[in-house]
Amino acid sequence: MHKNRRSFIKTSALGAVGIPGIVSCFANQTETAEGIKPVVISTWNHGIAANEAAWKILSTNGKAIDAVEAGVRITESDPTGQSVGIGGLPDMTGEVTLDACIMNEAGDCGSVAYLKGIEHPISVARAVMEKTKHVMLVGDGAKDFALAQGFPEVNLLTEKSKKDWEAWKASEQKVLPKINVENHDTIGLLALDKHGDLSGACTTSGAAWKMKGRVGDSPIIGAGLYVDNEVGASTATGWGEAVIRAVGCFLVVEFMRQGHSPQKACELAVQRVIDKNPDWRDIQVGFIALNKAGEYGGYCIHAGFDYAVQHPKLDNQMIKSGSRMSL
Ligand code: ASP
Repeated sequence: MHKNRRSFIKTSALGAVGIPGIVSCFANQTETAEGIKPVVISTWNHGIAANEAAWKILSTNGKAIDAVEAGVRITESDPTGQSVGIGGLPDMTGEVTLDACIMNEAGDCGSVAYLKGIEHPISVARAVMEKTKHVMLVGDGAKDFALAQGFPEVNLLTEKSKKDWEAWKASEQKVLPKINVENHDTIGLLALDKHGDLSGACTTSGAAWKMKGRVGDSPIIGAGLYVDNEVGASTATGWGEAVIRAVGCFLVVEFMRQGHSPQKACELAVQRVIDKNPDWRDIQVGFIALNKAGEYGGYCIHAGFDYAVQHPKLDNQMIKSGSRMSL
């Protein structure tokens, strides 16, 4: 078992404190795998299983674009995850609608939004990228395209998610969960392959009990995901409206272009989200980033956001992201 010593020390120290709300306000906390390839990084706990699938491809000289797709497909197929793919929590009318996008080293990208009844929106997004002249298909058009491409129609609403929705609907206050653990769990996954190329994928069922027709940041190139093979890549999780307002992931990549480390770029982008959103204390937004040299980082508004990383010197491991605020 290999472990990057710096990361080991850092995670051990956090573990020793053992407080999930630990804050590292704007600490210069850079995780790095500089010069090491391949690298895969993804959001939240479900990132561990997604990274494993991506790693099988990356460690055998595969391409980053194949790795990112294979990785997030695992999360999309997991019925126990209530924020991505099958099992995702529905909108306020009880319908599960999925959003996803993908981007490769050439800057090609594809996206689907408000897609119903298809297990793997990420693969439909890739098909949009590779088989059409367009970047984004939504709603019925996206579904018709998926069916024409041979994707099977499936029921995305599990019994558990249906029961949760019924309970929410029957509740008097119909509370919309605010931050973090209850409601924000998109998977975004970034990879740098052995050839030195970057790609990224992002897929979600969006905010629970969202308005019918609502689309968040996750399928929006530049907001929920951005890849520039000369610089780096970034993906986002959290309150999509705030990420869209800041064009979050494009911003992270632009900060890296200006010379900032991935960690610092994520911190600066979180600050921008805060500056542009008066309600920032009530929302969660988190970014992860990976640059061309294999350095990576992550940052969020509220403590409680983790990301998973794997590279040749580090086992698939969860890293507790620094945050702007404690819980
Ligand atoms: N960003 C997603 C959205 O707003 C939600 C999430 O990350 O959980 O749709």
